[in-house]
Amino acid sequence: MTVLQMLKPHAGLRVLVTGGASGIGLVIARAFVDAGSRVHVCDASKDAIDTLLKVEESAELNAITATLADVSDRAAVDRVFDDVATQLGGLDVLINNAGIAGPTGGIDEMDVGEWEQTVDVNLNAQFYFARRAVPLLKEAREGGSIIALSSVAGRLGYAFRTPYSATKWAVVGLTKSLAIELGPDNIRVNAIQPGIVKGPRIERVISARAQQLGLSYEDMEKDYLAKISLRRMTTPEEVAATALFLCSPGGSGISGQAISVCGNVEVL
Ligand code: NAD
Repeated sequence: MTVLQMLKPHAGLRVLVTGGASGIGLVIARAFVDAGSRVHVCDASKDAIDTLLKVEESAELNAITATLADVSDRAAVDRVFDDVATQLGGLDVLINNAGIAGPTGGIDEMDVGEWEQTVDVNLNAQFYFARRAVPLLKEAREGGSIIALSSVAGRLGYAFRTPYSATKWAVVGLTKSLAIELGPDNIRVNAIQPGIVKGPRIERVISARAQQLGLSYEDMEKDYLAKISLRRMTTPEEVAATALFLCSPGGSGISGQAISVCGNVEVL
C-alpha cells in the first residue's frame, strides 16, 4: 500500500454516530457513507431523524439507519446498541459526537439543573456509549476506534461557559485514559477539538454571548474571528475529514490525542 493509498479510510467500517441526525454529526455520518461505511446514528430530535430518513429514502440511499434516543438516558443507550446489533452486526468506530452548548452565564447565577444537564449530555453520555461499545470494538477487524467530540473549549478556559468548557476538558481526560486502557486491545481513542464551526449552532452561541455582554451580533462575530489565527470559521467538512483520516491506515498510529481543527483559536 502506498502512502497515498493509506489516506483512504478502511472499507466497510461499521460506524455509530451519536447526535448524528444533524449538524457536524450528520456531515461525519455522510462522509463515512461516501467512504463505503455502514452508518447508524442516534439523535434526541425526532424531527431531525424524520428529515434524515426521508432524504435517505427519497434519494434511494438508505445508507444510514437511526434510533431516536437521548444519549443521557441509559435505557435509551441500551436501545441504541440493540439497533446497532440488528443493523450493523458489530462495530468498528464509535463517534461520541452528541453535545449541547449548555447555559451562558456567571457561576453565581447558574442554574444547577442546567449545569447537571450539560454534564449528563456532554460527559456522562460519552461514558455510557464507550462502556457499551468497547466489547464490540475489541472484535473490530482493523482495530476499533473511538472519536470523541471535544472542543477548543476543552483546551482553553471559557468564561461564562463553565459547564461546557469543564465537560469538554473532561472528554479529553476520558480520551487519554481510555487510549492507555484500550491500546493493548487495538482500540485507538482520540478527541477532535473543533473551534468555531460554521452553522446554526454557532450562530446561537454568538447570539447568547452577545446578549450576555450587551453587544450586537455583528460585533460579537468580529470579536470571535479576531481570536482565530486563520481569521475564519472551520467547516463541518474539515472536522469530518479529520474523523475519516483517523479511521484510515494513515491514521492507524494515532491514539490518545486531542486534535484541534480550529484554524488555531488563540483565546476564547
Ligand atoms: P448541533 O447542536 O448542531 O447538533 C447536535 C446534534 O445532537 C443534533 O442533531 C441534536 O438533536 C443532537 N442532540 C443534542 N442533544 C442530544 C441528546 N441529549 N441526545 C441525543 N442527541 C442529541 O451541534 P454541532 O455543532 O453539530 O456539535 C456537534 C459536537 O461538536 C458537539 O459535541 C459540540 O459540543 C462539538 N463542537 C461544536 C462546535 C461548533 O462550533 N458547532 C465547536 C466545538 C465543538
